[in-house]
Amino acid sequence: MKRTVSDEMFEAARRVIPGGVNSPVRACRSVGCDPLFIKRGLGAVLTDVDDNEYIDFVCSWGPMILGHAHPSVIAAIQAAAVDGTSFGAPTPTEVDLASLVVEAVPSIEKVRFVNSGTEATMSAVRLARGYTGRNIVVKFDGCYHGHADSFLVKAGSGLLTLGIPGSPGVPEDIVKNTLSIPYNNLEILEDTLRQKAAEIACVIVEPVAGNMGCVPPAPGFLEGIRRLTKELNILLIFDEVITGFRVAYGGAQERFGITPDLTCLGKIIGGGLPVGAYGGKAEIMDCVAPDGPVYQAGTLSGNPLAMAAGIAMLKELQRPGVYTELERKSARFEEMLNGISRATGVPTQLNRVGSVMTVFFTPDPVSDFESAMRSDTERYGQHYRQMLSTGIYLAPSQFEAAFVSMAHSEKDLDTAAKMTEWSFKKLL
Ligand code: PLP
Repeated sequence: MKRTVSDEMFEAARRVIPGGVNSPVRACRSVGCDPLFIKRGLGAVLTDVDDNEYIDFVCSWGPMILGHAHPSVIAAIQAAAVDGTSFGAPTPTEVDLASLVVEAVPSIEKVRFVNSGTEATMSAVRLARGYTGRNIVVKFDGCYHGHADSFLVKAGSGLLTLGIPGSPGVPEDIVKNTLSIPYNNLEILEDTLRQKAAEIACVIVEPVAGNMGCVPPAPGFLEGIRRLTKELNILLIFDEVITGFRVAYGGAQERFGITPDLTCLGKIIGGGLPVGAYGGKAEIMDCVAPDGPVYQAGTLSGNPLAMAAGIAMLKELQRPGVYTELERKSARFEEMLNGISRATGVPTQLNRVGSVMTVFFTPDPVSDFESAMRSDTERYGQHYRQMLSTGIYLAPSQFEAAFVSMAHSEKDLDTAAKMTEWSFKKLL
């Protein structure tokens, strides 16, 4: 495939943007490529600046559950834009989107909108600390909760891709208040919580991990976290930035029937515009300023365009059958990919929850950070490059999830499976 214009643009970008990208994994370093520059997305298809087309399984890292440029979302953004883009004052659409979120997500009684998933998690942790008067945050190895200081300890996503455990610039004084422990291990969690209960403000978890690749919670894991945190008066925060409105309309908490104290959202609720949100029990949320002393604010928070996009998105997702359809398509795709793995003899482990999935290049089950790390990343890189050359756009890292959207047709999935078979045969 021709990539002259993308290459020229990347060179220009590197002169003015660090690494040429505004988020590190986009640089595609771990798969041995330079990035493509995208000029358009429509449905399941991305078009790059050299006019190559790709079936997209990144979906902007999750938000595009309806596919790109969905007519309802675009119409809502256009209609909102003519009335002005930001006022720094309350608007009716904030109340509408908040009401939709409160109706949808079992644990949320009140919700505050911010501008990114990072802002949501950062604010939820501040609130948990303010509410409990304690400082320690417990997280899980390989989970990613955005790039705020407290979370850059054994984090997933770009840190895992680039092989860095934390980050310079994050003071020791902050990191000492973050404990990171293995995912899916209740024994270690119980020991940690019992030892330090009086100092722990919250446990934050991706209820389905998506940032070390897709790692589902083991049976009983989420129930165990809920039981222990409740018993020890520690707040439980579900980071549903990926899973919210993705693995069910009401998120992982609906799918698994667990009610956290606070929930963080992002990605889908902005319809592709920059939005995050955190919410939970009214009693806790009322500690946020101006009603309470925990400070959090934002010039563009509740932005009218983003709210309009989010409302249009959620209304589409309320249509009957959306999640059944996503489940059915994703299960069929999983079956095809597992069949190809068996037939070609390329050992893989496919993890899937709803329309979130990862094919790990390892023969062994992947249930946590350690087992994810046993994947053959060289092999993933080769597969990635081969797939790209046939017009299939995968995440440029073994440690990210692939997403199936409503826009993927059966034919798109058949094509992706056929190309996977071709690619796997070349891996041998
Ligand atoms: N939490 C999770 C689970 C995420 O996957 C991400 C981003 O990928 C974030 C938080 C941070 O969100 P954002 O990139 O919008 O800041």
